[in-house]
Order: sequence, then structure tokens, then C-alpha cells
Amino acid sequence: MDDINFELADKLGYKRPKSPFRNNDLDFFKKAIEESEKFDNFKHLQLISNSGYKLAFLIFQNGTIEYYENKSNYIVENKIAYFYTTGSKLYFVCDTENFIISHKIREKQKAPFLIPETFSKQDNYYKIFEKFLNNNLEKLDADNRYVLDKTENDPSVIYADGNEFPVQKYIANPNGDKIPLIRFPDNLYIPKVNGSNFISHKLKDTNRRYVNPYLFSGYIGVLFELINSSIISTGSCFNDGTGFPSSEHTNGESIDISFDSKTNSITNLAAIEFAKIRAFKKFHFQKVVINEICKPQISKAGFLDSEITYDKKYHKDHFHFGNFNMSKVENKSKKLEELIGRKNYS
Ligand SMILES: [Zn+2]
Repeated sequence: MDDINFELADKLGYKRPKSPFRNNDLDFFKKAIEESEKFDNFKHLQLISNSGYKLAFLIFQNGTIEYYENKSNYIVENKIAYFYTTGSKLYFVCDTENFIISHKIREKQKAPFLIPETFSKQDNYYKIFEKFLNNNLEKLDADNRYVLDKTENDPSVIYADGNEFPVQKYIANPNGDKIPLIRFPDNLYIPKVNGSNFISHKLKDTNRRYVNPYLFSGYIGVLFELINSSIISTGSCFNDGTGFPSSEHTNGESIDISFDSKTNSITNLAAIEFAKIRAFKKFHFQKVVINEICKPQISKAGFLDSEITYDKKYHKDHFHFGNFNMSKVENKSKKLEELIGRKNYS
């Protein structure tokens, strides 16, 4: 079938979706995308516009990423959609809820650390701190070291860390900055991409289920690059924007990816691990962290020392990808308005 079947749209009585978005609108919309064989900038943008999402990202196979703000009255509240194109086909990848939170910054704490006076002895948090102060924390587990200081308006978050930083405290940025976050889909599975291939993404063993929506558009590009693999992520940040144990996960600005099961050990990385580095670099993640034990293998695979950050202590079972280049995600809202203004089929 050629392009979008607008006749079918008329037959089904399809109109611009009203808010709230109904499921059958989305079903029609997905069908229209499936039936469009050729990528056509105008018609695809028209589809994206009519999908009713407040914000839509379009990720191109070549690394280009564009986003469109839908200014029409028919928008789905608080939802962001992700689309991917190979240049010949458009795919609807997923939609997810959008949150606005206060930008978090880390406050330096001085030792010795005292349990905040506001915590009662019966409080679970008090017990956590007591354990911490007695040097008795067994596991590096964010959930068990996570303390909300509810005495402040926008609660600060405190982690008791047994490592280099005795205590990490995060507070809302005093300048009042707000930032967007989305909830990671727990699983992402897309059949029918290039025949029998599929993308699969899973979040595993983490409550860091939130992430910056722009960075996530780069991650979608990565998943399509690694289309025959199951990618396991141990997440980005919590819904308050913090992301223990790494301070670089604050505000959802980094993502951790587990090593593939094909990798036997840290001294025997499978080819998929090198493919991950290439894919994340292509989609604008400027920082790659892995343990220094991997250095000879990574160098042998052709990466320069300047491209990789080698960590002495951690990252023995996962990569850290961060420093996403936000400037690579282009705002094309004006282009959308111009194109849609040219012709209106509804
Ligand atoms: Zn990390």
C-alpha cells in the first residue's frame, strides 16, 4: 500500500483525536503507520501531529533526532510519544507519561554526619542512619539507604553511603528550575521490524525507573541499532530525580546497561558490548564508563582512550552511558506547523 490510507480514515470516521485520547484512536493511528510503506515527511508529520501527543520525538536511523510540540487543542495530557524511521518506514515505538519535577542538585556534606534531629528513634530512617553510623550497612542498595527529609517543602533526599561519600544529600535547586522526566517502559517489544527482528528492552532490579525524555530518544535510537539483542537496563533515576549510588544519574541524565549474557566475564567481553559502545556514541551519549580491566579489549576493538572513561572500582558488570548531547535533539515544531498549515485533511 502506498503512503497513508486516508480513505480508510474517512471510512472509519477518523477525526482529530480529542483529549483524553481514546484507545481506538491510537489503534487507528498505529494501523495507519503500519500501512504506510514509504516515508513521506509531510504525511508522517501530519500523522504525528494528529496523534494528539503533546510532545513527539522522531528518531532517524542516521542519528538525527527531532522533536515536535503539538500546539493544537487536541492533545493528550502529559504524554510523550516516540517514533522511529529507517527512512523508508515510520514506527510508533511507545508513549509514556511526562512529569515535571524540581531540578536536583547535590549538596556537599561534611563529616562527621549526625542523624537529623527531626528523625524519631522509631523511624525506619533513624535505624538506617544508625546502621550507617555504626558502619554496618551490608549492601550497596539504594532502597535501603534512601531517606527523605520531610521537614523541607520540597523534600531533600539523603543517602547513607558507605563508600567515598559518607552521605549524599540532594536538594531542589534554589533557583527554582523545573525539569521533565518520563517513566521508563518496563519492557519494550516491537515485532515486525525488518521481518523477524525485534527490539527488546527490559528494566531489571531497579527502582530507578525514571529518565530524561530527551536522553530517552537517544536510547530508542540505540535499541534499533542493536535490534537483534535484548538490552537490559538497570535504570536511570528515581521519580524525585535522584539516582543513588551514582551522582551522575541525578535528573535522569545517565543510563546503566548490564553486560549481555553472551559476555562470559569482564575479561572476555562479547562483540555485543563493543556494538553497544558504538550505538550509544552514534546516538550522542558522550560518556562511556567501564572498569579499567576492560581497557586492553576495548583498545583492541578500535576505541581511543579519550573516548572511554575507565573506572578503577565499579562498572564490572555494566556500562554507564551519560553526558547525552542535548543540542543534537532539534526542535522542529515550526516545521511541523508550516507543513500542517499547508494542507489539512481532517
Ligand atoms: Zn551509571
